[in-house]
Amino acid sequence: MTYTSPLAETLAPDVLERFERYVRVDTQSQRDRESCPSTPGQLDLARMLVGELKDADLEDVDLDDNGYVFATLPGPTGARVIGLLAHLDVSPDAPGAGVEPIVHHAYDGSSIELPRGGTVLDPLEMPVLAGKVGHDIVTSSGDTLLGADDKAGVAEIMAAVAYLSANPELPRPTLRVGFTPDEEIGEGASLFDIDRFGAECAYTLDGSQPGELQDETFSAVEVQLTVHGVDIHPGWANGRLVNAARLAARILDALPADTLTPETTSGREGFIHPYEVQASASRAEVRTILRDFDDELLDRHVALLTRTAAEVVAAEPRARLQVEVRRQYTNMLRHIETFPEVVEMAERAIRAEGLEVVRTPIRGGTDGSLLSAMGLPTPNLFTGGSEYHSVREWASVQDMASAAATIVRLAEAWADGTPA
Ligand SMILES: [Zn+2]
Repeated sequence: MTYTSPLAETLAPDVLERFERYVRVDTQSQRDRESCPSTPGQLDLARMLVGELKDADLEDVDLDDNGYVFATLPGPTGARVIGLLAHLDVSPDAPGAGVEPIVHHAYDGSSIELPRGGTVLDPLEMPVLAGKVGHDIVTSSGDTLLGADDKAGVAEIMAAVAYLSANPELPRPTLRVGFTPDEEIGEGASLFDIDRFGAECAYTLDGSQPGELQDETFSAVEVQLTVHGVDIHPGWANGRLVNAARLAARILDALPADTLTPETTSGREGFIHPYEVQASASRAEVRTILRDFDDELLDRHVALLTRTAAEVVAAEPRARLQVEVRRQYTNMLRHIETFPEVVEMAERAIRAEGLEVVRTPIRGGTDGSLLSAMGLPTPNLFTGGSEYHSVREWASVQDMASAAATIVRLAEAWADGTPA
């Protein structure tokens, strides 16, 4: 028995069926968007969800022009209003079109070889997967991501509210459901209408392993460095060419490599991560994300990057450096601390599902980071997916069912109205 409860086992077929349907819709978001949502596929999924929310008899089902889906599962008169959120889009960091999910029933603990791209899920390199013997594991076909981030969250919320709607005797507050576009490009909260949503707090279902309850995220800054060189036909370049691509390479080389990188840090350590370089002799752009849980340390990382770039470029007086610093989101902890009930109720729900509460800081951000700062305290709950943003992404059906069941327990916890 790998299900955490009979409730989870009851919900599992619906969660899986929805999940397999949602992941097939190409909802990959695109950076540098010109509209919201950044890609039309997100609207396809949004419309599908609108239909399914109506089929489940939810009220006020609405898709706005920006791709936000809102709906209400009403509680008794005077009930508190609690939000459930997941994002429609998938990461632009791995192929996201043509996802064909595969269910590997009753996983036996061995390597899972996927049919395409030579992709292998090796339990020796994936200790979390190694712990899922007996589970039904869903993967992609190997040449795309799976999209459990965050269609697992979408499927779990949909299955839970459909179940509550079909079982009106079960206790619940008023639940507001929200599905948001463009989370993976950091824009999920930017056009989110908190007043119209109308909840006093919310939960994103956008985490990973069972029991996870996250009320702390990175604080995040993106820096774009643009180096302007002097380009000229290489035949006439002697003494005149200033190669921006070489200057960008020098900047990268001057940054710390054995520390302060994503690949050398863990836990509460922050990093400087140049993730995209576009360079020609005349112009080079270096895009870098900087992360830390501590805002003061984050400012120091920004200073280190900009100082390093300025020093490298200053050595070549004919070159010019442009620096753009953009704050992306801040650690949600300080906003959630003021509303301890939101965490207490989640802990109660997780324990009611027979799971241990796992409190880990998120080495990333969620829609909840910005929403919490905007006045809607929004911690994050687990979904049962792993290896996000890669072709090795996978999810456990049993763990997704646990997440859906935890939502039903969460409804029960909030129905009582008062904290423990
Ligand atoms: Zn996500």
